[in-house]
Amino acid sequence: MNASPTLSIVCPCYNEENVVEIFLQTVVPILEKVTDTYEIIFINDGSTDNTFNVLLEAKQKYPHLRVLNLSRNFGKEAALTAGLENAYGEAMIPIDVDLQDPPELIVSFMEKWREGYDVVLAERADRSSDSLAKKLSAQFFYRIHNKISDIFIPQNVGDYRLMSKRVVNTLKTLPENQRYMKGLFAWAGYKTTKIPYKRHVRAAGETHFSGWKLWNFALDGITGFSTVPLRVWMYLGLLFSSIAFFYGGFIILKTIILGKDLPGYASLLTTVLFLGGIQLMGIGVLGEYIGRIYKEAKRRPTYVVENEY
Ligand code: UDP
Ligand code: MG
Repeated sequence: MNASPTLSIVCPCYNEENVVEIFLQTVVPILEKVTDTYEIIFINDGSTDNTFNVLLEAKQKYPHLRVLNLSRNFGKEAALTAGLENAYGEAMIPIDVDLQDPPELIVSFMEKWREGYDVVLAERADRSSDSLAKKLSAQFFYRIHNKISDIFIPQNVGDYRLMSKRVVNTLKTLPENQRYMKGLFAWAGYKTTKIPYKRHVRAAGETHFSGWKLWNFALDGITGFSTVPLRVWMYLGLLFSSIAFFYGGFIILKTIILGKDLPGYASLLTTVLFLGGIQLMGIGVLGEYIGRIYKEAKRRPTYVVENEY
């Protein structure tokens, strides 16, 4: 195989035994059309089903395949990192194996890349394949994220995109191992363009991202790129202490003018509980960031490759 192909397709796979074959049947003819040298890198992210064997079988049939086997499940972000770091292409396209990202777009990706763009994004023109809850929560997340973070993550854009080698080389220089890829991609910058597309429903199998996983993903995204949640407590604290200050003044005045009042037990309790809650939240946010510092400080690798096949 050519050591430096024009195009690398990077596919993280976790329990995808049913879709690998359909994926290859759809994607390979398109790749044959747009370029003569390409590689398809499958990252087996510790699948517990038959995915690994399915991939090895597929490799017999398709000579351009490479299979990176991770030593266990590291999660999609890590699997994607593994694929990109081990790809040799001049241009690279991460794509989900479930065919939710339409492979036809690869043709337009390559056209734009040949025009000189370093990054070509695929923008979901329509999210009708997603549930209402997913749509609304995604919208909410991007709004908050882009308000309080240093970098802007375009809405309705997933991991499906083309990146030139130098963009990926830039990504390789980022040492963090808690990798929120969409944020890192946006951080890298470079000359970017977008093409609209419609996201399909999964070809087979089920999504691996539950509501809880998505929530944690959103926390990774925000805490990875913003320190606003840490700083906001200073202002909240200032606000509440000023309110307390004026309230204290008010009580003193009232006592001077109207004499001693019956102690306000209810208001006292409410204030104590309220401030207690605020403090706990503040400590929680500190904990979130300290946890990340702790994880990062250990300098563990993002992923472990068992072997390449
Ligand atoms: N994936 C992975 N590791 C995981 C979870 C998912 O490599 O721990 C892969 C999965 O095989 C698929 C892609 O990430 O190719 C996207 O996953 P999924 O389709 O479940 O996510 P959704 O499209 O529902 O957001
Ligand atoms: Mg999917």
